[in-house]
Parts: sequence; structure tokens; C-alpha cells
Amino acid sequence: TVKAEGKNGVRASGEGLVEAAARRSRLARDLPGAIARGDLHLVYQPVAGVRERRVLGVEALVRWDHPVLGPVPPEEFIGLAEDDGLVVPLQRWVLETATAEHARLVAAGRDLKLGVNVSVRHLQARCLVEDVTRALERSGLPARLLMVEVTESVLMDDDERLLAELAELSALGCLVSLDDFGKGYSSLAYLARLPVDVLKMDRGFVSGIDTDPRGAALVGSVVDLGRTLGMDVVAEGVETAAQREVLVSLGCGFLQGWLTGRPVPAPDLPAVVDGFDPDLLGGRQEQLPVP
Ligand code: C2E
Ligand code: MG
Ligand code: MG
Ligand code: MG
Repeated sequence: TVKAEGKNGVRASGEGLVEAAARRSRLARDLPGAIARGDLHLVYQPVAGVRERRVLGVEALVRWDHPVLGPVPPEEFIGLAEDDGLVVPLQRWVLETATAEHARLVAAGRDLKLGVNVSVRHLQARCLVEDVTRALERSGLPARLLMVEVTESVLMDDDERLLAELAELSALGCLVSLDDFGKGYSSLAYLARLPVDVLKMDRGFVSGIDTDPRGAALVGSVVDLGRTLGMDVVAEGVETAAQREVLVSLGCGFLQGWLTGRPVPAPDLPAVVDGFDPDLLGGRQEQLPVP
């Protein structure tokens, strides 16, 4: 593998390896200062309930506004933070900021859940539970409104300690979701043992469902799997009404994507939530299958 290509292959393809390596080391050099200086901010994307016909929660997504390079996508700098041991301070900032901003929204009368992405490295560092506890205490946000999103790479690491950490988060009263579900390797046997409340189905599943019957069948089986294991299923990356129609007909209860709302800064959220148009969820489904 070529080291200069970002972890997730998100480097612009036309860019040379030298430029890519220079950018990478520049970003690595600037990241500690960015966290300290507050060049990071969070945006929040709505998650809508099909049956409830409203926004039920939001997911916090981190953004880095680099003074010279402009906006840097999280997929480019989360990996850097992980490699450079910065993931814990970065994650602490995200947890503190997201819970504080969200607590204000809740105090203003909106009973929404908050999803926060965490890195498996933070779990491995053994201080995630402590950091989550502190963020909840400082912000006053009820634990039941916080959903911790871990990617399915926790499944690859058949590690009892990670499982125990997740169970502790669960015991705090937080929800745990498995993010990007289906994107990589998943051990179904292990999934059944995880204290997971929500499956977030990777957008790779969603993109072709309106044209590919096999894709739709696959999504249907993920929805059924969720139901069998007592987990809610959220479809990620829902962009079109055609995709929504298939998802709703397959019994998927929760949608997140550009169709139902782009990520917005915290000050814009009240208007987005209160002004949500239920028609974005399609016609009212009187005959939805009862889970
Ligand atoms: P994710 O947690 O799966 O977040 C969903 C991503 O899909 C977000 O990308 C969101 O902007 C994008 N998205 C939402 N709806 C649509 C849609 O309809 N179409 C398409 N094409 N994309 C959509 P974003 O914000 O670039 O974040 C990328 C990933 O970076 C996240 O994936 C998450 O894994 C990671 N990430 C973001 N914030 C954090 C954070 O605070 N901590 C950690 N550890 N990871 C983070
Ligand atoms: Mg997520
Ligand atoms: Mg995801
Ligand atoms: Mg992702």
C-alpha cells in the first residue's frame, strides 16, 4: 500500500504522491493546534422516523476549517489523529462540544437524540467511558439521549475488553449504534453478543436499491436482522424519494440522508427540526408492517 494515499482513499486522484504526502504531513502538524484554537466545529444531520413523521435525533459530524487549505473532510483527519495519538483529545472535544450544544437544544424543549461518532482507538485507550461520563455530567444531557456510534471494525477485533467497554456505556444508559453496518466484514455471531441498540446501514446498501432488486433484497434482510436482534435500523445516505419508497416498503423505520436533511450548524437546528416537512417521508403509511 502507498502510505501517501489517505487511509480511506479520499485523496484527490489527480494529485501527485509528493503533494499528497506534503498535505498529509501539513495536516498532521496543524491538527493539535486546530483542536486547541477551535478551528473545528460540528454540524448536525437530522435522523427522521418514518412512523413518527418527524426528526427524532441528530448526528454530530466534525468539520475542520483549515486557515490555508480550507475545509478538510473528517475522513482525511480522523485517520491522522488515530495515527498520531490525537484521537482522544479530538474525541474529547467532540463529546464535550456536541453534548453542550445538544443540551441547549433539549433545554429549549426538543427531545432529540444525539449521535456522536467515536473511534475504536478511543475504546481501546480505555477512557471512553470516563470521557462520556464527564461530558454528560458537564452538559447535563440525559444519558438516554446520547447515542455512541462505533463502526463495525469493533467486530473485527474479537476483543472481550472492547465488548466490556461497550457494555459499560450501555449501563450508563447511553444507546450504542453500529455505524456503517455492512460496509466491511461483519461476524453475525459476534453481532448478536454486542450490546448494540441501533444498526446504521451503510449508504453503500442504499445507493442502488431503487434499481437493483438484489440490493433491495439485501436491505430487506438487514431490516429483518435488526428486528430479530431487537435493534432499530437506520438507513444512511438516503438521497432520493425512489430510495425512500423502497426502504419504507421494506420496513426500515429511520432515515438519514440529504433527502430528509443535510448537516447544519447548531444555531440552524431548531428551525430545521421545527420546520421539518413530513412529506419528505412520503405519503402516510397506514399499512406499515407492525414490527
Ligand atoms: P458516518 O458516521 O457514517 O456519517 C455519515 C456521513 O455520510 C457524513 O459524512 C455525512 O455528511 C454523509 N452523508 C449524509 N447523508 C448523505 C447522503 O444523502 N449522501 C451522501 N453521499 N452522503 C451523506 P462526513 O460528515 O464527511 O463524515 C464522514 C465520516 O467521518 C463519518 O461517517 C464518521 O465515520 C467520521 N466522523 C465524522 N465525525 C466524526 C467524529 O466526530 N469522530 C469520529 N471518530 N469520526 C467522525
Ligand atoms: Mg456515524
Ligand atoms: Mg455511517
Ligand atoms: Mg462513514
